[in-house]
Amino acid sequence: MQVAVYPGSFDPITYGHLDVIQRAARLFDRVIVAVAENADKRPLFSLEERAALAAAATRDLANVEVDSFRSLLIDYVERRGARVILRGLRAVSDFEFEFQLALTNRRINDQVETMFMMPRDTYTFLSSRIVKEICRLGGDVSPFVPPPVREALEARYAELRRAAHPDCNRSHIG
Ligand code: ADP
Repeated sequence: MQVAVYPGSFDPITYGHLDVIQRAARLFDRVIVAVAENADKRPLFSLEERAALAAAATRDLANVEVDSFRSLLIDYVERRGARVILRGLRAVSDFEFEFQLALTNRRINDQVETMFMMPRDTYTFLSSRIVKEICRLGGDVSPFVPPPVREALEARYAELRRAAHPDCNRSHIG
């Protein structure tokens, strides 16, 4: 049984991530999408929200499971009995960091291999950060994320706008 762990922040999951997941689901018996806490990045969605959105987006893929973890990645991978860490590569700009991460993980446990997959060319420019920026500025993110993710993004930015400008909700008369 070949199990691959696909770790990331998934803040939120995009069609780029999903493209990698679909390709991996055809190659491995089981793919675990592992949502990382990532305290450094100040995510827009909580760990639970990110995992729930990833689960909604991958519901139709029978051998894909969504989980979350707060520990060291390599410990999590061992605990899940996986031998492969999956990462996506978009452009040369991803390489430097991914290279560092892969070799560090290998130094910790050289029984675990990191494998890279490239998404469909139309998704090579896509990142969670850009999707959030488009949505924050009122743009349509439906070409980039599945419908439940679009709804969650729009709701979150509407909440943040209301919190920033509470007066906008009050009637001018009353
Ligand atoms: P992290 O914070 O760990 O980089 P991300 O959620 O941003 O988490 O990304 C998880 C993995 O998915 C990374 O390997 C990243 O390079 C990859 N990835 C992100 N967006 C895309 C995309 N559009 N196409 C392919 N891989 C992607």
